[in-house]
Amino acid sequence: MPKAYELPAPGEPFDPEVFKLGQPCKRDHIHADGLTLRKRNGGQCIICSRIDSLERQQRLRQDPEYNRKRAAYVAEKRKREGRPSRAKRSEEWHALRRLHAAINRTGKCPSVAQLVYQQQLDYWRDHPSDRLAAIRAQAKHRARWRHMTDTAYRLYHRAKSKARKVVLRGGTHIHLSPIQLWRRWCDFDHSCAYCGASGDLEVEHVVPISKGGEHHLGNIVPACHRCNSSKRSRDAWSWYKAQPFYEDWRWHNIESILNKSKPMTKQINLFAS
Ligand SMILES: [Zn+2]
Ligand SMILES: [Zn+2]
Repeated sequence: MPKAYELPAPGEPFDPEVFKLGQPCKRDHIHADGLTLRKRNGGQCIICSRIDSLERQQRLRQDPEYNRKRAAYVAEKRKREGRPSRAKRSEEWHALRRLHAAINRTGKCPSVAQLVYQQQLDYWRDHPSDRLAAIRAQAKHRARWRHMTDTAYRLYHRAKSKARKVVLRGGTHIHLSPIQLWRRWCDFDHSCAYCGASGDLEVEHVVPISKGGEHHLGNIVPACHRCNSSKRSRDAWSWYKAQPFYEDWRWHNIESILNKSKPMTKQINLFAS
């Protein structure tokens, strides 16, 4: 094997131990001063010699006799070294090779999470029904998580389930947007309309649905779980008056805020007289 060397660019200085300047070659590869860069030993033009060796290789690759000999040599070498042929290598071997190629391409190693995710994707590609089930389960978990952490989301869904209840009882209801409910909760400073407790607040109908109350803003206040379950379907005024935490100003507050939204057709106006 000839010694490998860096080819100096035209006009660049060169190693005089390896190269010399000589007569222009037949293909006119001029390095400097109208002269060609040649090998010190043998005096061949270095660019011509590279071209010749590439052409020789190309000729050899098209020669069936050479290819047969080469294949026999490789097979013999594999047998001697005990290596299986590339076509007989395992799927794991190819996966590892692809991984190495990917690392070389990007220049960084994938994280464990990325590898696990890739395995998951591979599995899902072969099991599409499992993938759908996983997506559904994830959506469920996400909704549950949001229900636990997002007050506005929880409020909206509580109101929606109340509206469903009203529809089932044949009552009147109106679609309430999350922002409307949120504003109503802000009106009461995110605390129970009756006792003033803060925390997890429920959707409370002042005129109970069972007594013909409607599901709309003229009838909805926030209430804590304790007040909501204690009041149940009783009349708001007589129940509230009897509570130890009764306060005049709270009742007037409820009155004035509810009166801002006009009741719909059927409900008797609680505060008319
Ligand atoms: Zn040349
Ligand atoms: Zn309360």
